[in-house]
Amino acid sequence: MEHRLEAELTLSGSLPSTVHPDELIPRIASEAVARTIGARGQGRLAEWNLEGVRLRIVLESTGPRPHQTLLAFARRLSEELGRTARVGVRSFVAARYRTEFSLDAPPTAAITLPLPHHLTVEGTLATLSLTALSEEGLRDNWMDRAVSLVQEKARRQTYEGKEQFWSLLSASPAREPLFRGDPTEEMLKRHWVRSGPTKGKWFLGPTAAHLLRTMERVALEEVLRPLGFQEVVQPHHDSFETLLKTGHLEGLPGEFYYVAEPKTRDPAAWERFTDLVKITRQVPEEELARMVTGPTAVSCYAQCPTTYWWLSGRTLASESLPLKIFDRAAVSNRYESGGRHGLERVDEFHRIEPVFLGAREDLLALREQLLERYRHVFDEVLELEWRTAWVTPFYMQQSGRVGVEDAEARVKGTIDFEAYLPYRGTREESEWLEFQNLSIVGEKYTKAFSIKAQKGELWSGCTGIGLERWLTAFLAQKGLDPSGWPAGFQRYAGELPTDVRFL
Ligand code: ATP
Ligand code: ZN
Ligand code: MG
Repeated sequence: MEHRLEAELTLSGSLPSTVHPDELIPRIASEAVARTIGARGQGRLAEWNLEGVRLRIVLESTGPRPHQTLLAFARRLSEELGRTARVGVRSFVAARYRTEFSLDAPPTAAITLPLPHHLTVEGTLATLSLTALSEEGLRDNWMDRAVSLVQEKARRQTYEGKEQFWSLLSASPAREPLFRGDPTEEMLKRHWVRSGPTKGKWFLGPTAAHLLRTMERVALEEVLRPLGFQEVVQPHHDSFETLLKTGHLEGLPGEFYYVAEPKTRDPAAWERFTDLVKITRQVPEEELARMVTGPTAVSCYAQCPTTYWWLSGRTLASESLPLKIFDRAAVSNRYESGGRHGLERVDEFHRIEPVFLGAREDLLALREQLLERYRHVFDEVLELEWRTAWVTPFYMQQSGRVGVEDAEARVKGTIDFEAYLPYRGTREESEWLEFQNLSIVGEKYTKAFSIKAQKGELWSGCTGIGLERWLTAFLAQKGLDPSGWPAGFQRYAGELPTDVRFL
């Protein structure tokens, strides 16, 4: 693979006659090549010329891409000219930066990039030229990221439309359904729930709320407390910085609810807005847009990103490991758009998210314990018909991969828990409902947030207990009549509230 970087450097002044560029420039370039490319390929200064304060150089490499070489060259040149001639390098850009790299498979459609560029592909060999790449782009390694992005887009094209990876892990015995209706329809009929005043949100009346909280108590008493998980209460807004680190920001920008702030809380500045409300009795949308900022944060999408933020930059003492915590304070918000359905696919849901950190063996053991406690709940308390499957880990879906069939995928990876919903059709043909999952992500997040263990490597994982999903799975199989409910669940639910009667 060959790489070629045509750079233009601007000096702070012309060189005095005591400096000999013919000696200086090739010497500093070969030092920079030795330091950044060395034996990893052939690097060289292919061309150069100096006109006044403008120095043009061309660097070529068959090893690492030569932008680090350019940075080293500019730094050394500045140092040396500063000392000998009081001249520095004021700025530099890459007029043209060409690189070759390979793709997993030939792309099936055009690939776009949001930077000035030219891309050609022959078979699986791609040649990318970035033009007018800024100093910031060179310092911040945009070329390598652009290359990864092209590779990712090509990979995504090949996998598009292919089945998601799914491999059955366990299945409960079949159970005869006590109910075949859609539980949300049934709850609506009884006024247990009402579709909310804004998109995809529901108001749960006393009975539905009681049942949702019952599910929460089952999870706390049967799974989390016995395994020693401790509760934390985390903020509800996720910072962009946090979501940049987890990869959510690039993976899911169309699924967030964004948070905006008033530009001021000074009533005088809001006078026009309030006057318009008083006169028109409508929302003055233009005036409102003028008075609030653009998005400054994201309403909680999942809790684990902010849990990792809490631990960022810290070293966990051995006595605190494995660390087992959970949050149930932040409510998850997702823009589900066309996919919304009943209580099982909503834009605002209640979830307990346990997060765990520790040594690899400790987390693999904890996963077995969690699987065992979950099995106990779904078999013996809720008496559900359910199954588990290995699926594409959520962090890989974001990068366009379908799943890997290697040994590591059974160590790190995601297990989905699915329930049969009789109202959707037969067991074999209908889509089952994912009601929770369990992931071990290795060092991905502990590295991204610089979280360390006192000794050894630190892995992490999380499991999302979706309470609306637990509830709909249960009601879809058992119906809304408490007399048919399993004894284990009845014990937790106790007496139901008398629901509000509407005339
Ligand atoms: P699905 O494919 O069903 O949308 P997902 O893969 O998006 O699920 P995750 O992002 O893995 O789900 O979220 C973990 C858990 O959060 C799910 O197992 C489920 O319990 C819950 N959950 C996710 N999205 C919703 C939603 N829109 N409504 C209710 N619960 C949800
Ligand atoms: Zn998570
Ligand atoms: Mg989803």
